[in-house]
Amino acid sequence: MIDLHNHTSRCHHAHGTMEQFIQAAIAAGVRVYGFSDHAPMAFDERYRMAFDQMAEYEAEFGRLKARYSDRIELVLGYEIDWLPGYIDDRVLARRVDYRIGAIHFLDHWGFDNPEFIGEYARRDHQSIWRAYFEAVAQMAQSGLFDVVGHLDLIKVFGYFKAYGVDAAVMGALEAIRDSGMTLEINSAGWRKPVEECYPSEAIIKAAFDLQIPITFGSDAHDVCRVGQDLARAYDLARSVGYRQARYFVDRQPQLVKI
Ligand SMILES: [Zn+2]
Ligand SMILES: [Zn+2]
Repeated sequence: MIDLHNHTSRCHHAHGTMEQFIQAAIAAGVRVYGFSDHAPMAFDERYRMAFDQMAEYEAEFGRLKARYSDRIELVLGYEIDWLPGYIDDRVLARRVDYRIGAIHFLDHWGFDNPEFIGEYARRDHQSIWRAYFEAVAQMAQSGLFDVVGHLDLIKVFGYFKAYGVDAAVMGALEAIRDSGMTLEINSAGWRKPVEECYPSEAIIKAAFDLQIPITFGSDAHDVCRVGQDLARAYDLARSVGYRQARYFVDRQPQLVKI
């Protein structure tokens, strides 16, 4: 199994050291394990590492990669927020195996944070949905990222259950295909109010029809979540028709049969 999406205590909202996560991954039977801590950004700084922590994050990873090389393949990335005006060259300058691009903010609204859930009552839902997937398309068109993280995160609180693969979603998927990005099947959604994988089965089917490659992530923010529901995510991908997944080394895709 591949699990490219994991966070450690460096982001101040996850719990566990890198080494604890690696040991949990080995125990869970993960073969390729990636860290994707939230990259520093001059916004929402409470929930991410600081700019001066990047070197230490990468150095600690390097030590552990060597120490565990006979037991697990370790890869390193960042989860980078797509928030126009805040994409930082200091992050893009880091040499890593992969970059996950993800959207957690529309304008400056942290729509997946329960603290700001009241905003859903003040806005038109159709407009939120459209704005979200337009942002995904822009992120893909930027060409900066390897993986699109939790593609339909906007559904996290369960508000968009009736929304299918509409023109907004198709626009985002076509932009992802054109950019050559890989789609993450992220199992964390099953433990959120929406109780669905990210993205939904219908979106995964549409992605398969567009021949968009996939990868996997548990989005663990706690050691006990490593690998959780990953087998279920693999089953879902296979049931749709996928037979291959990707991970990245030095930003080059590596193919694995699933
Ligand atoms: Zn996080
Ligand atoms: Zn995320």
